Amino acid sequence: MNKIQGFYYVKVNEKIYECKLRGILKRKENKSNCVVGDIVEISKDNYIISIEKRKNFLERPLVANIDHLVIQFAGKDPSIDYERLNILLLRSFFYKIKPIVIVNKIDLLSNNEIKELQNNLKFLEKLGINYFLISQKENIGIENLKLFLKDKITAFAGPSGVGKSSIINLLQNEKKLETGETSKKLKKGKHTTKDTNLLELINGGYIADTPGFSSIELPNIRDTQELISLFPEFKNKGNCKFNDCLHINEPNCVIKNCVENGKIIKTRYEFYKKVYEKLKQERWNKYE
Ligand code: GDP
Ligand code: ZN
Repeated sequence: MNKIQGFYYVKVNEKIYECKLRGILKRKENKSNCVVGDIVEISKDNYIISIEKRKNFLERPLVANIDHLVIQFAGKDPSIDYERLNILLLRSFFYKIKPIVIVNKIDLLSNNEIKELQNNLKFLEKLGINYFLISQKENIGIENLKLFLKDKITAFAGPSGVGKSSIINLLQNEKKLETGETSKKLKKGKHTTKDTNLLELINGGYIADTPGFSSIELPNIRDTQELISLFPEFKNKGNCKFNDCLHINEPNCVIKNCVENGKIIKTRYEFYKKVYEKLKQERWNKYE
């Protein structure tokens, strides 16, 4: 959904309604009052009368309720940087956007290299993260991907040169949305957009162009407990000896035990320790 000269465009059942925001929602005049992706309720005279609680929110571009963050890499040229993949996963958990991983350019890989890649990506299955091996060039895996992104708001991240623009172009569509007349009764719909940062997909759904998300900066994690919460595989592993265990040097630590018996993947744990040290040195100490 988007705001153009005070109007908001709300899509309800494939039709767009040009709406205004009800006064009470404007009280705190703020550009994030009602943004693209918001689920809103509109009245019969085309006023937005309520906005549902957002599951997530980005400022650049201004968009809410993103369904997936696609983290895109290439199988080759350039090959996967696993540390960067882990940072992007951390960012997506931080922003509460469900990640999926795309590995493009698999046309450049031999069968053995594909097997090796699948082996290296096994840790994603343990995290419940879907991944797609595709080739934009050879049209491999594209239909599956399209089905997955259908009717969803998807943000894209990843290093340059992996084929993000190529995929986004392939998925995108020039199709114009039909303009609805005045709405006849109370309706619920998704605020839609004519913003260039939100691209419409051929089969329904949107891509949020989020170049800023590809950054390898660590997000603004407040403390160790928040950092731990961004590692889904650390959940439900039982209790450590200490309630506030950092899972670093403490005795009787269930997380360290899980790393030893293979329930938690070692490289992920090593990544956790590295981020912990970095945040402690560069950020947390400053506020103590
Ligand atoms: P971006 O920087 O991530 O947006 O990447 P681009 O879309 O600009 O693509 C970078 C390069 O990768 C271009 O030269 C593309 O032609 C090439 N490329 C994109 N997809 C594929 C693919 O599936 N296979 C191969 N071999 N090359 C690809
Ligand atoms: Zn522990």
